[in-house]
Amino acid sequence: MDEVFTFANDEFGKYPFDGYSFIQGGDGGMEYPMATLITGNRTFISLVGVCVHELMHSWFQTVLGSNESLYPWMDEGFASFAASEVMNHLKEKKLIPGEYEKDPHLKSITRYIIFALSGREEPLTTHADHFTTNSAYGTAAYTKGEVLLEQLRYILGDKTFDEAMLRYFNTWKFKHPNANDFFRVMEKQSGLELDWFREYFVNTIYTIDYEIEGISGNNIVLKNNGLVPMPLDITVTAKNGKIYNYYIPQEIMRGEKNEETCFNNFKIMSDWAWTDPTYQLKIDQDEKDIISIEIDSSKRMADINRFNNIWPRMEKTSR
Ligand SMILES: [Zn+2]
Repeated sequence: MDEVFTFANDEFGKYPFDGYSFIQGGDGGMEYPMATLITGNRTFISLVGVCVHELMHSWFQTVLGSNESLYPWMDEGFASFAASEVMNHLKEKKLIPGEYEKDPHLKSITRYIIFALSGREEPLTTHADHFTTNSAYGTAAYTKGEVLLEQLRYILGDKTFDEAMLRYFNTWKFKHPNANDFFRVMEKQSGLELDWFREYFVNTIYTIDYEIEGISGNNIVLKNNGLVPMPLDITVTAKNGKIYNYYIPQEIMRGEKNEETCFNNFKIMSDWAWTDPTYQLKIDQDEKDIISIEIDSSKRMADINRFNNIWPRMEKTSR
């Protein structure tokens, strides 16, 4: 647990109390300030998993104290995001079994997409008590809440995002932030406008779907089939083995992300106006020198159809 607190204090802000208790009892796991009730009779990894999730509520439920009924995604979603980070760190340190992943949130993105495509999704703005199904509540609060932070990491860049999360905790601890307060900190730290992202991703169930329509010469035609605009990371792999990154900001962001670790040395291209269905991307390479082109090679963007993110288009074997 020492390792958990060290890592979480570093990533999400300092836990301000002297103690924390894990108490056997209740059903499943239920978080309280400075303590959690947890049921036994679990595998070791399940016990660690539930302990870490409930503990991470100390940051988002106990200390920040956002309204869990009005904004369940700011509590369950952020705790889920933090727990995925902590569990991945413990795997990297070989303290628990399981494989370290470059990005521990990709599974949540897949779960969110499957549910979004099922047609049963409800927007994050729904009051926790008023979802029509438990699965719509669970997916919105836990899964899409985690995916929302992953989308912000993609939009802001990973370094700026980490700084923004710390700033959110330090600015709003013990002050009960609402959704406005959270997004305002994200905007201040990044210098980007993010109201559009909130309008789409929090207030609606619109989805993201970008496509590479084709390339001729050095001109790539990109298409937006979805209703949520996003900035695009484009990776071009050349036949000589070199990789070229291009970054297309959304005009409504009024800025660009900074360099980050998982998408680096990118060339900033002109803005994509969200009202335009297509975009012509002029790259420095020629079609004949290219092996492949991919939208968001980090796979962080919650694009509901990844099949059309890649050129040349592969045979569709599974969804
Ligand atoms: Zn929880």
